[in-house]
Amino acid sequence: MTKTIPATLIAGDGIGPEIMQSVTTVMDALGAPFLWDHQSAGVGAFDQHGTALPEATLDSIRRTGLVLKGPLTTPVGKGFRSINVTLRQAFDLYANVRPTQTIVPDGRYENVDLVVIRENIEGLYAAMEHYMAVDGDPEAVAYGAGFNTRAECNRIVRFAFEYAVKNNRKKVTLVHKANILKILSGLFLHEDRKVAAEYEGRVALEERIVDACAMELVIRPENYDVIVTTNLFGDILSDLTAGLVGGLGMAPGANIGEKMGIFEAVHGSAPDIAGQGIANPLALMMAGSMMLAHVGRQDLSQRLDGGMKQILQVEGLRTRDLGGKATTQDVTQALLRAI
Ligand code: NAD
Repeated sequence: MTKTIPATLIAGDGIGPEIMQSVTTVMDALGAPFLWDHQSAGVGAFDQHGTALPEATLDSIRRTGLVLKGPLTTPVGKGFRSINVTLRQAFDLYANVRPTQTIVPDGRYENVDLVVIRENIEGLYAAMEHYMAVDGDPEAVAYGAGFNTRAECNRIVRFAFEYAVKNNRKKVTLVHKANILKILSGLFLHEDRKVAAEYEGRVALEERIVDACAMELVIRPENYDVIVTTNLFGDILSDLTAGLVGGLGMAPGANIGEKMGIFEAVHGSAPDIAGQGIANPLALMMAGSMMLAHVGRQDLSQRLDGGMKQILQVEGLRTRDLGGKATTQDVTQALLRAI
């Protein structure tokens, strides 16, 4: 199989290089068509180039429009903006797609198969925050504002309905808080109803207030199909849904724009286990599978998914986060045999 599709590869920080090694080894063995352009970002890039997001990396992303990205560490403190947020906004990656499926049955949640589609560039993550001084205390009040635009609400909801149609899903649940945030969340709800009307008869619409949705997801997750929601709610709910199926080590995500896609694991750089060879590479592996499907190679994506099911369900392989003892390398080797 020739490698014909240029793609930017960012190994990332912490456990990033370990899990990325696993993913590229398996993808290469699978015959994935990606011609990797290795670039750096994150703390590693900062130490080497004095910037966490080098111009060469941005150039590569502009050129390829396709990225497989390991987790990046964002140092806590003032002045260091999240690279992930920067990338999403710079490349207009407006849709964050996070599928959740039961692959490792744990006796509690057997039939979860849902997708959270999160608006990725607006809402309360627009980072308009500042302090207000009171009585000589410069940080007496913390103030933050968010915004949703009608155009973006329309675009993300349309994305969710189109996703449902393409992936043969039957229902879209709109998650909001329009009872309290009457304008910020209300606009989202209003646009959703408008878009949903165009899909009547093909995809059902359901509406849920975010707090009720969180409870229902824990009690009856099998009732959900596609969830579409604003940035902050989507961030929280998609970690919740990851927890239903084995945790962050099993949760992939894609940041999708009109012309670009950045595929990654939902988890971070896991500094507590970095360098030990025990990280679970499957979340990033699943992101790789989504990337294969994105470029039209559903055949390879399904083979990779089948391999993951084989090693988890038939062979019972488990890394430490899933309660087992398998190493990253054990997973790589088992997958090479299973695909
Ligand atoms: P984290 O996701 O890195 O880790 C949370 C817990 O989950 C840790 O105990 C970790 O060991 C475990 N874990 C995560 N991924 C795992 C895997 N693949 N296998 C086994 N265990 C795994 O979250 P955090 O500790 O809050 O964040 C660490 C750093 O990562 C921070 O700098 C944060 O900003 C960054 N971060 C980056 C991304 C991203 O690049 N997309 C996402 C989230 C956090």
